[in-house]
Amino acid sequence: MSKSTDTYELAVIGTGMAGMAATLFAANREISVAQAGTTGEIIFASGYFDLMGIHPPEEKKIWKDPWAARDALIRDIPNHPYARVRQKDILAAFEEIISFLQETGLQYCRMESQNSQALTPVGTVKTTYAVHHTMWAGVQALAEKQPCLVVGFKGLKGFSAHQVAGNLQHKWPKLRAVRIPFPGRLEGELYAEQMARSLDFSGNREKLALAIQPHMKDAKVVGMPAILGMYQTRDVLTDLEHHLGVPVFEIPTLPPSVPGLRLKETFEQGFQKKAVQQFSQKRVLKARSTPEGNFVLDIGSGETPEHQIQAKGVILATGRFLGRGLSAERKRIRETLFDLPVFQPETRPDWHRKDFLDSRGHPLNRAGLETDDRLRPVDASGKPMFQRLFAAGAILAHQDWIRMKCGAGLAIATAYKAVDAFWK
Ligand SMILES: Cc1cc2nc3c(=O)[nH]c(=O)nc-3n(C[C@H](O)[C@H](O)[C@H](O)COP(=O)(O)OP(=O)(O)OC[C@H]3O[C@@H](n4cnc5c(N)ncnc54)[C@H](O)[C@@H]3O)c2cc1C
Repeated sequence: MSKSTDTYELAVIGTGMAGMAATLFAANREISVAQAGTTGEIIFASGYFDLMGIHPPEEKKIWKDPWAARDALIRDIPNHPYARVRQKDILAAFEEIISFLQETGLQYCRMESQNSQALTPVGTVKTTYAVHHTMWAGVQALAEKQPCLVVGFKGLKGFSAHQVAGNLQHKWPKLRAVRIPFPGRLEGELYAEQMARSLDFSGNREKLALAIQPHMKDAKVVGMPAILGMYQTRDVLTDLEHHLGVPVFEIPTLPPSVPGLRLKETFEQGFQKKAVQQFSQKRVLKARSTPEGNFVLDIGSGETPEHQIQAKGVILATGRFLGRGLSAERKRIRETLFDLPVFQPETRPDWHRKDFLDSRGHPLNRAGLETDDRLRPVDASGKPMFQRLFAAGAILAHQDWIRMKCGAGLAIATAYKAVDAFWK
């Protein structure tokens, strides 16, 4: 372990959407910030930013207006984390994230006060709020039911153009599918990331357009799995649109996804310019508080600490079970770093309902940290466990982001609130 202990104002633990957002908000406020974490769920994410799409999930009620959905949600679930963040702050948070991503080369598109409908890799329609600019033509084509060709590739698992078109036939009759070999690869398994990197070279885009052209017929727009370049995405899109003469859009693939990787790399690249201290692919192995109320964190990639840092405040954005912020033990669900109290069903048999597909969802998926209004984890009496420990993202209790379609929105909104609470 390095001998010196570097000191920061704020340490963010986690590099998922909540950790990335918190780090950005802190850096933008000139708070000296260190961030640690291994790759989070961000690389599995579709690239869609959901704000609030479905409520109540048991009725599967879809909302066009995410703000009205949020109002209804916090009326029905007053302790949902969204109740702790004002609408104007959620909007400001999205604005700040989207501007940063755009400045760093990744453009997002949205309608400020409305959700959009976007395609999934299995040919269903999903309600979301903001999408990569590479996906926006798909949102418009779906809304207008334009004649559209979806292109799939031999050897690419987890994406079938025929399945997408087949499942949407009743809603979108002018959607057609074709499956072609990826230029230069006639056999074997293909990976979306590999295809995206290959399209970063302009010669390959022309070959791809030539392979698609014979299938165009009446198509006014072309959809493809999300493979339009890893670093040259804007150029890939422009070139393909130029060669094909119609708008082109991406449909997310199953995880790990190219849009998720782009998002992660864009954040990391932007943070380098903002002098964020990143402990990439490292975990906080141990955390303790000092008598002055500061925190000392041991950080490393294996079992042995490699760095020690001290921070006045900590934002815990360690996610749930997949992120490993929570751990499901034999008798209880445990918060893994500070052993904070976790809101959870009383006994293990109550974690899941008997019917896996129960429309009410499983109580386990609402487990997490309860907080005060400043997003500080609290004890059973509602008292903050630490004065300057805040929580953000999926680790928070009383939300089921998967079923409510609010994953990225919740992460961004609560990260904004947590940084604001620390800052002020
Ligand atoms: C398959 C999939 C698809 C998704 N699709 C969408 C979508 O379409 N739209 C949408 O809005 N959202 C989507 N999401 C959700 C979204 O990307 C985020 O997962 C979610 O918002 C929660 O983010 P988080 O940062 O709170 O947690 P996580 O993403 O789980 O991140 C937790 C982080 O904490 C780190 N960590 C944990 N313990 C430690 C430790 N001791 N030290 C250091 N770091 C630690 C982990 O390494 C990780 O970086 C999807 C997620 C998945 C998995």
